[in-house]
Amino acid sequence: MKRSKTLRIALAAAGSIVVAGCGSLIPTASAPAPSGERYAKAGAYTPPRTAAPAPRRFASTPQSVAANSSDASCLAELNQAGARFNPVPDTYSAPGCNKLGTVQLSALSGDARQVNVSNIGPVKCRTAKAFNAWAQYGVDRAARQILGSRLERIETMGSYSCRNVAGSNRKSAHATAGAIDVSGFLLADGRRISLKNDWDAGTPAEREFLRVVHRSACKRFGTVLGPEYNRAHEDHFHLEGTGAKFCR
Ligand SMILES: [Zn+2]
Repeated sequence: MKRSKTLRIALAAAGSIVVAGCGSLIPTASAPAPSGERYAKAGAYTPPRTAAPAPRRFASTPQSVAANSSDASCLAELNQAGARFNPVPDTYSAPGCNKLGTVQLSALSGDARQVNVSNIGPVKCRTAKAFNAWAQYGVDRAARQILGSRLERIETMGSYSCRNVAGSNRKSAHATAGAIDVSGFLLADGRRISLKNDWDAGTPAEREFLRVVHRSACKRFGTVLGPEYNRAHEDHFHLEGTGAKFCR
């Protein structure tokens, strides 16, 4: 079982490397596939006769994973935690902008069922790991306890973006895929709780839910910025890194 999981990561990594070899930076699809389907397909892949290098990559399990600068232990932990993802090949886009050691998440851990995530791009593995744990232990549980429904999907405004911090010359953590902007939450019962509509104007339970998930984000991420920080964050939580804490 464990071996097959490791192999699945390696297959996903190898598949990404083939894409990079074509010079394409197209991110892997974020649309969730039925559980396990993507990896099952990767395993069933038979390279055409002309694509000689591919089988060798598939055969070299640890090296395939190491070709992405995510440390292998982070990828293994993310897999162990139950997230679904593909490692993304390292790329440099512009001065100060790169995707090094990132993964493309397609589903997150939940207690009963996996949680979908929308509109997300490549994210550094450690940030993805914090995000996955927050989805399960912070958001899904808060949704059930406070709003009486499990979490179906976390809606984001993206992750990687080559840009500066607004009003400064400093590169944003988004420029290195180190942050995720979360705009809202879709519950299994169909309710959508958004930062824009519900931080101030939601029902008391919805407002409590948003404040509880904000506080739990502060325990897992290094920097968390929300509607109380400034106008630029009135419609999303900025969730960044895992180091020293700054929470507003
Ligand atoms: Zn942000």
